[in-house]
Amino acid sequence: MFILNHFWGCAYTIADCFHRFMFSTLIISRIMLNLKRKGMRDMKVTIDRSGCISCDICTMLCPQVFRIADDGLAEVIAQPDKNNEACAAQAAAECPSAVITIED
Ligand code: SF4
Repeated sequence: MFILNHFWGCAYTIADCFHRFMFSTLIISRIMLNLKRKGMRDMKVTIDRSGCISCDICTMLCPQVFRIADDGLAEVIAQPDKNNEACAAQAAAECPSAVITIED
């Protein structure tokens, strides 16, 4: 089998090089995937609408995520992304009925 002289003097076969390359690629792709998952793990917001008192606090704090629906109760219109996670969390913390739930 064809032998390559590596620059630091070790001898590798083409198969060795290929396996090392594939193993490194696999490890790096796993690390990148894990970082991506961690970074993109968005929160999930729900409202127990039966307890909503229509105070409008959540919609004022985070209108990108909450609105008052036609029935007069708050609803989630979009799950928060990185840009509005903070205001969604603040709305959950300040909801007087504590009916907004946030899951990570
Ligand atoms: S802050 Fe709470 S009680 Fe007030 S509108 Fe929003 S969900 Fe309803």
